[in-house]
Amino acid sequence: MIIQWFCFFKDSKLGFDISANQVSNYETLEYDVLVIGAGGAGLRAAIEASAAGVRVGLICKSLLGKAHTVMAEGGIAAALANVDDRDNWKVHFADTMRGGQYVNNWRMAELHAKEAPERVRELEAWGAVFDRTADGRILQRNFGGHRYPRLAHVGDRTGLELIRTLQDHGIHLGIEVHMEPTVVTLLKDGDRVVGAFGYDRERGRFKVFKSKAIVLATGGIGRAYKITSNSWEYTGDGQSLAYHAGAELIDMEFVQFHPTGMIWPPSVMGILVTEGVRGEGGILQNNKGERFMFTGIPEAYKSQTADNPEEGWRYTQGDKNARRPPELLTRDHVARCIVEEIKAGRGSPHGGVFLDISWIKEKIPNAAERIKKKLPSMYHQFMQLANLDITREPMEVGPTTHYIMGGVRVDAETQMSSVPGLFAAGEVAAGLHGSNRLGGNSLSDLLVFGKRAGEFAAKFSKESNGGRISDAQVEGSAREALEPFDNALKSPASGESPYQIQHDLQEIMQNLVGIVRREEELIRALDGLNKLQERARNISVHGHREYNPGWHTAIDLKHLLTVSEAIARAAIERKESRGGHFRDDFRNKDAAGGKMNIVLSKAPDGSMHLVREQIPEMPEHLKQIIAQME
Ligand SMILES: Cc1cc2nc3c(=O)[nH]c(=O)nc-3n(C[C@H](O)[C@H](O)[C@H](O)COP(=O)(O)OP(=O)(O)OC[C@H]3O[C@@H](n4cnc5c(N)ncnc54)[C@H](O)[C@@H]3O)c2cc1C
Repeated sequence: MIIQWFCFFKDSKLGFDISANQVSNYETLEYDVLVIGAGGAGLRAAIEASAAGVRVGLICKSLLGKAHTVMAEGGIAAALANVDDRDNWKVHFADTMRGGQYVNNWRMAELHAKEAPERVRELEAWGAVFDRTADGRILQRNFGGHRYPRLAHVGDRTGLELIRTLQDHGIHLGIEVHMEPTVVTLLKDGDRVVGAFGYDRERGRFKVFKSKAIVLATGGIGRAYKITSNSWEYTGDGQSLAYHAGAELIDMEFVQFHPTGMIWPPSVMGILVTEGVRGEGGILQNNKGERFMFTGIPEAYKSQTADNPEEGWRYTQGDKNARRPPELLTRDHVARCIVEEIKAGRGSPHGGVFLDISWIKEKIPNAAERIKKKLPSMYHQFMQLANLDITREPMEVGPTTHYIMGGVRVDAETQMSSVPGLFAAGEVAAGLHGSNRLGGNSLSDLLVFGKRAGEFAAKFSKESNGGRISDAQVEGSAREALEPFDNALKSPASGESPYQIQHDLQEIMQNLVGIVRREEELIRALDGLNKLQERARNISVHGHREYNPGWHTAIDLKHLLTVSEAIARAAIERKESRGGHFRDDFRNKDAAGGKMNIVLSKAPDGSMHLVREQIPEMPEHLKQIIAQME
């Protein structure tokens, strides 16, 4: 079994010779279901597909166990009602819809709220060691936008436990794992997807993965921005692969800027400070010592939000009669409040605001021990990276690019995109979170929809034949991938650096398509991105294909340029402010905006085509749930 889990070159055969002076062969591997991405969504999909009895390949461009999911801290949202028995799927559904400001795919939100508890219990049965309540059940913590304590967690290392458990479980199912190949293009036979073309990062050799069905589980796009909590893998590959293969992207304007990233020292700027800090009683203050979050609480949340610090504190300590503190309002709102404080000159010395958990020593004995127990990673992160003891001093924090709500449009039940045979799950897919994701709802998304994607991809593969991969497609993909080397040979002295273009792209996105957006700046961004597209044609990379980071960056750039253009175009089109999309020139929500999604697809001439689409009417029983929870 273990051999099979780590088998790299099974059933391979050699293909054409692409270039005499470069590594020439490609290898073909064949599966029923190919899962691209080994984070929570990919692992869960692979487990389900494998359990259905089909042959499954799993690819990750980093090492197994290193996917971005491993970084997740706060927990998995699921209405288990272990800590507060008033919780149930209906409250979770209503919270998710309110958080997403009602542009969510309501069916996905319903399935997610209903199925998350079962997925968490299943994870426990597979060996996940969650923190416990006094009577031995899975402990749940408070998080922004969730009415009741809902996040099942393992200290602040929940993602690590999730990945470990899924890997341990998957190892027994005969899934074939390929570490470090990067998929560059999807291969099609007519309308349907039939494979993926990629290269292995270590040797630079090409690989063709032939498969009856493909699940994309490649995560997010954070590396399109300069300041981000995201790992190096987050270059929007899945969104771009799907788009170029003919799938639709929706909601790309909705990018989540997490309110609390580290801002000092500069080398660690953007690293996440979990919302769990606020869930455990942490407060936000400006340089005047004011808890600024108490001003400007949005109407939709007023009745659920504490109106004084004492009530907020009681909430974090489990008082069921207290309402949550305003620090636990949704991320979009908290991030904007922080930006306003900084702009008004009330920021911290390094350009953020203060997040203080040390103050809880005024309330409880052994506060330092409690903080270290509940937030061990945060304690070590600040000690080691900023030489700051969070049990004694406040942290300095500011917004950081964290998550994209938009992505590949999928069917709610099956997770199939508009391209037959192409499925997507996890952060790469869109719909569940609407305009703003609640913390904890990503890990549950991975489990619920990862499982569904695996199940339906396996079903699709059983019902279809393999299709055909044409040599011409593979050759075209290989030539395109090698262009940066060809450019360097043709004109060694000129040519663009991939790093410079990546840097310029991140500057554009950070400065012009960031947390506060304006029409004129967005248009400038689009113009800048067009120029970068032109420059990217001249990228040249020197050296050879064996572990060449310049080449990897050049290949990632195609994806970054595609998703950045999609974000900028959708942001221009949505002339209102909603969730993760704030327009300084249209500061309010607009009724029509609440009824539509922006859908992007690749037009036959290669340009990006955009349409507004009405959101289907929500059925009466779901409307009633929302009305009851107001
Ligand atoms: C610091 C931090 C803390 C977080 N905490 C929480 C939390 O507490 N709760 C919560 O719900 N959410 C949290 N999130 C968000 C959550 O972690 C992510 O949204 C989620 O893990 C995404 O999982 P995924 O399976 O979709 O993708 P990932 O885990 O990112 O996996 C993507 C996989 O795709 C592979 N891949 C990508 N491109 C290619 C390619 N071209 N070819 C081959 N393979 C490719 C990668 O190698 C990787 O294996 C947090 C995020 C961060 C950054």
